Amino acid sequence: MTAASSALPQHFDDIYQSIPATVTLIAVTKFLPVETIRAAYERGVRHFGESRVQEAIAKQAQLTDLPDITWHLIGHLQTNKARKAVEHFDWIHSVDSLKLAQRLDQAAQELEKAPHSCLQVKLVPDPPKYGIDAAELLSLLPQFDQLEHLKIRGLMTIPPQGASPDTVQEVFAGAKELAGTINQGRFNRLHIDQLSMGMSGDYPAAIACGATMVRLGTVLFGARPPSLTSG
Ligand SMILES: *Cc1c(COP(=O)(O)O)cnc(C)c1O
Repeated sequence: MTAASSALPQHFDDIYQSIPATVTLIAVTKFLPVETIRAAYERGVRHFGESRVQEAIAKQAQLTDLPDITWHLIGHLQTNKARKAVEHFDWIHSVDSLKLAQRLDQAAQELEKAPHSCLQVKLVPDPPKYGIDAAELLSLLPQFDQLEHLKIRGLMTIPPQGASPDTVQEVFAGAKELAGTINQGRFNRLHIDQLSMGMSGDYPAAIACGATMVRLGTVLFGARPPSLTSG
């Protein structure tokens, strides 16, 4: 119909329609132009994921005519950008330390916001990746539970690069189990009702293990252009 729609790969709708209605599709548009976001929006997508705060802010400034987008930050966040993240995102999936969670909570209080968030967890050892080890997370739960403004709703996890199907399964099933363990703790605020897991290479397995949000880029849009800076 429009030039923007034709910018999407032909299989876009097939993939989009294949995601169960109970699972939120987050279209990952990092390094992709705003025209791609507009095209996906026209097809019905309302949840978009970006990995960098500055890049997202620049795109949001060009999309002010689409006010019903839910913005998800999925990339590592430095504590000094916590305030900007709270200003510009509805969901923060990459809460990978107590310190970051505390900064986000403080920013949320100051800005009178209540952002939703996921704790990024590591279910198997993966040195290069950010995330909180499961055992460490369990020991920190009382402190996460004290945060009044940051709404901790989910666990986010990413299997190690090149992991075997067995390991991928272990990671996704482990996240589901950890969520159950956390909820059995009957905390005041902390209750996990979302599992953010599954990317282009592994989302069917994630959905089978109970993912409620999948973060898909390549499988929807094709290969991304390389990022201009590292990270
Ligand atoms: C880039 C990215 C994705 C999307 O990856 P694809 O393999 O292109 O689907 C999902 N989650 C995170 C955290 C990412 O950085």
